Amino acid sequence: MKKDKKQIPIRKAWGLNIRALHLWWKNFPDIFVSYTLHAIVDALLPLIGIYFSARVIDELAGARRPEQLAHWVLLTLLIGAGTELLLAILWRWRNSCYAGTYYKHQKLYAEKMLSMDFCDVDNSETLDILSQIQQNENWSRWGLSRIIMHYQMLLTGATKIIGSVALSVTLFNSKVTDTSGNLIILNSPLFIVLILGVFFLLTCLSPILESKAMAYWASAAAQARMGNRVFSFYGFIGFDRDRALDIRMYEQEEFCNKKLKDDTTFTTKGLIARYARGNMGILYALSASISRILTGMVYSFVCLKAWAGAFGIGAVTQYIGAITQLSNGLSDIIGTVGDMRNNAYFLETTFKYLDIPNDMYQGSLTVEKRQDNNYTIEFKDVSFKYPNTDTWALRHVSMKFHIGERLAIVGQNGSGKTTFIKLLCRLYDPDEGEILLNGINIRKYDYREYMQIFSVIFQDFKLLAFKLGENVATSKTYDSKLVINSLEKAGFDIRLGKLKDGLDTYLYKDFSDEGVEISGGEAQKIAIARALYQDKPFLILDEPTAALDPIAEFEVYSKLNDIVEDKTAIFISHRLSSCRFSDRIAVFDQGKIVQVGSHDELLADSDGMYYALWNAQAKYYKTDGERELLLIEC
Ligand code: ADP
Repeated sequence: MKKDKKQIPIRKAWGLNIRALHLWWKNFPDIFVSYTLHAIVDALLPLIGIYFSARVIDELAGARRPEQLAHWVLLTLLIGAGTELLLAILWRWRNSCYAGTYYKHQKLYAEKMLSMDFCDVDNSETLDILSQIQQNENWSRWGLSRIIMHYQMLLTGATKIIGSVALSVTLFNSKVTDTSGNLIILNSPLFIVLILGVFFLLTCLSPILESKAMAYWASAAAQARMGNRVFSFYGFIGFDRDRALDIRMYEQEEFCNKKLKDDTTFTTKGLIARYARGNMGILYALSASISRILTGMVYSFVCLKAWAGAFGIGAVTQYIGAITQLSNGLSDIIGTVGDMRNNAYFLETTFKYLDIPNDMYQGSLTVEKRQDNNYTIEFKDVSFKYPNTDTWALRHVSMKFHIGERLAIVGQNGSGKTTFIKLLCRLYDPDEGEILLNGINIRKYDYREYMQIFSVIFQDFKLLAFKLGENVATSKTYDSKLVINSLEKAGFDIRLGKLKDGLDTYLYKDFSDEGVEISGGEAQKIAIARALYQDKPFLILDEPTAALDPIAEFEVYSKLNDIVEDKTAIFISHRLSSCRFSDRIAVFDQGKIVQVGSHDELLADSDGMYYALWNAQAKYYKTDGERELLLIEC
């Protein structure tokens, strides 16, 4: 085997394994007790069998006393059955402790994702590492999942060794008779040391070769992950409801099948099959044959000693069984240590993810709770570039929010409107300048406390497949009157009246056949209601009506004053007709605020960008008495 690039130095591999074990201990301490007891009893069971059957055979081949025979048979049965029963109970207990650890692992990763800086969440490298971790675990439980298996194997191995040494120690003490001819050599201490040396060497060699063979799995990891990804994507695409329409319309099924067939990862042409035919296969075969040679050696040594009169037939069974167990125990330990080293490569990826620093959300100041909602927010000469980009998404932006005002943010696509909101919500921190809440840099506040003053509806909001009321309140328990009130304000009242289960109606069909499918516009109204229910001093709406039809949009905006009440509202819209309802409009262009003023003030400036934008959209509007309707999407 060529020097394996994927193998991690022993010290580092050991460190990674200890850390992973510690992580298991911290998160699932109860598992260790059940695994420990199960491993010990599991390892002792065959040894108990070996000891008692040896006594029965000894009696059969020796004195043949019926009472003594019955005594041993009864003990064999009772202790055997009792231990089996205990093992079965421990096995169930162990499995019930283990159940759910997969989800707990996933929770560990999800919690990390939720606590890390948003720029890292948004980073494709982070998503790639996470997907590698999941692929490794799905592929063959590589990574964190393997740790408890290693713990069990080490413990089982150690118990087997201790038990079998106790059962086989007399093998080397018992002397062959003086009349044994050449076999007298079996009494020689030198010969015994030699036999023990060869025995130890072969016992170690077999698992070492096996773990060398296993190292090829790490080498194939990248390709296997990709193969798994391809399989998960194309193999299950037919079950994907979101794609069902496209697949039918464009007959994509055949195309996907072909893509799946083109991937050779797990076929005879793939890397893993090539390894199996080559060095990996040879190493596995060598490991298996050495283990057989070892068994042959043990049989020969024990039988020759018995032949030469060192002990009886019962002891032969005991020694052969014990030495086989000793060899199994050593193999378990050496094999596991090798496997731990191989697994270190996968653990490195796991910790790379878990160690992504969380530098952003370290503030500790509490936000003063004010009944009068007197919170002042100010952007002071803020500039910002997205990570790994060279262009300024925001440049020298200064803006102070007036309490209780309705501020509209307009501008062409890519002008920095959403980025402005993301900075306000501390999803990113400015590269230059600062954002102040009541005169203090928002970085200094505890992030959760800070976010308590905002209700935000982003364009790509998501509702949950739970009940309508739970969705609005984001909680299982809620104030129904308030929920209904919020839905009414958001314009969902007519639809709500038609739902036979009212607030208990499930959205979508994931968890109930009675669930309702809702349109994009209805979902948007529910999202608005969700923001209103929280009743926070700032209401931020990023393109809140993009999915509404023009009439529904008009209704939302004309009710904006009722909706917003005394809150400060900041909303982004690309439909300028909706901005007329706001007190102030900030016009963004290429990351800068180029104009600020009321609708009338901005329209009066015929050289300004607002004027140009307004006129570009005006041709799509027509007046209908009091109302101005948007006829065509722009
Ligand atoms: P708007 O909301 O006005 O359409 P955005 O604030 O979304 O504009 O985008 C401002 C600029 O930042 C654009 O040039 C956009 O391409 C860039 N941008 C937005 N999001 C990201 C991101 N996650 N990574 C890199 N660049 C981004």
